[in-house]
Amino acid sequence: MKLLIMGPPGAGKGTQAKILSTKFNLIHLSTGDILRSEISKGSSTGIEAQSYMNAGNLVPDKVLLAMMKTTLENFKDNGLILDGFPRTIPQAEGLSAIFESLNQKIDYVINIYVNEDVLTNRLVERAEKSGRADDTKEVIANRQKVYQELTAPLIKFYNNEIINIDGDGPIEKVTSRIFNIIK
Ligand code: AMP
Repeated sequence: MKLLIMGPPGAGKGTQAKILSTKFNLIHLSTGDILRSEISKGSSTGIEAQSYMNAGNLVPDKVLLAMMKTTLENFKDNGLILDGFPRTIPQAEGLSAIFESLNQKIDYVINIYVNEDVLTNRLVERAEKSGRADDTKEVIANRQKVYQELTAPLIKFYNNEIINIDGDGPIEKVTSRIFNIIK
């Protein structure tokens, strides 16, 4: 099974992706985590990505597409949950082309929605604990703006296959809303 999970920063997609990966035995591919690990390794991808990430901007599509093409080819025989990719229309088009070349398709697109005030509060709370360089107030605001401009249009792109999940409330509640649909 190939799942894609989307939502604005703070919607809880990473948390839900982890739970789904355990339940359905899927490899959890979080592009944010992959990029952070490239940065800590000091790889060329990491070096290229770092300044964009620290500012809360998106890393260029060509970097993500090259990285994900290799990753998806390597994991072609596994069940997967993609978390944080695609984040732009060109990435979504590139992803379709990659899956097509592998003779595969996305089974479910999950979109977690939460209103903006709840999101800001969650991100500020997470920032206090995370120590992530992109969890400052200004960068959080920029990530929300970038989401609205570049990532939210994906909801329309995946219009026919999208499953909208209310992301407000306790983690277990959100999980059970997803499990009601994906069995
Ligand atoms: P995340 O951990 O998903 O919040 O991602 C952290 C940061 O990594 C984002 O703010 C972007 O700078 C970068 N990033 C992660 N995924 C992507 C993507 N698909 N396209 C571009 N940049 C990305």
